[in-house]
Amino acid sequence: MRRGIKKGYIVAIDGPAGAGKSTVSRLLALELSGRLLDTGAMYRSVAYYASHKNITTATGFSKIARELTFGYDAKNQSLLVNGQELGQRLRTQRVSGLASKVSAFKGVRQTLTACQRKLAKAWAQDCPVIVEGRDIGTVVFPKVDYKFYVTADPKVRAERRYQQLKKQGSKGISLKAILKANIDRDKQDSGRKHAPLKCAEDAIVVDTSKMSINQVVQFMTEHIKGRISLVGE
Ligand code: C5P
Repeated sequence: MRRGIKKGYIVAIDGPAGAGKSTVSRLLALELSGRLLDTGAMYRSVAYYASHKNITTATGFSKIARELTFGYDAKNQSLLVNGQELGQRLRTQRVSGLASKVSAFKGVRQTLTACQRKLAKAWAQDCPVIVEGRDIGTVVFPKVDYKFYVTADPKVRAERRYQQLKKQGSKGISLKAILKANIDRDKQDSGRKHAPLKCAEDAIVVDTSKMSINQVVQFMTEHIKGRISLVGE
């Protein structure tokens, strides 16, 4: 039988805040000529609009989630929210903290999970889809072929974020505050009732503490391509 390359498939990438998931997912999507579904950006969008409209209730958060529409800008590998790219507006400390809060609500999760399944399945008709988040391998796509859990030592994660913010010219940031914010967010994400952050039993754990981004991407690509090359045999 001829060796075949599957065109569309889904790769689930989960892990705690600041472990390098986003960068790795982005590069992996490029490497595999695929699309990236940044599910964190979806939760952040709900937080962003809630903050803008001063909405603070579970019902209000769920309503925002239901009203949002999502698309993809292939050129920038970015998620479009109501037709626009929200970019750095989704990356403030305020939105990060609030995203973690809104994501604990069942109504928000149900809506966004359904959206994620629909988008990724549609995209995977044509190309590989890298779906990045906290509950992708456990809840959203528990049956996909490729699952990675990307993690790193909390101090290493905070230090990376600190360097990234410094590079972007952010003023008045402290390593200690970033470490605390990450720990709080991890605690909230792992301790919540609905779809908590946890490693799927069949996920490959990648500890990036001592690995470069390129090493991680190479490792994942080889794993995926190694498995794909067996399809059809
Ligand atoms: O990945 P990112 O840091 O952008 O995610 C922001 C927040 O969204 C996380 O702290 C988490 O609370 C939430 N999230 C989630 N489930 C996902 C992706 C993100 O609960 N699949």
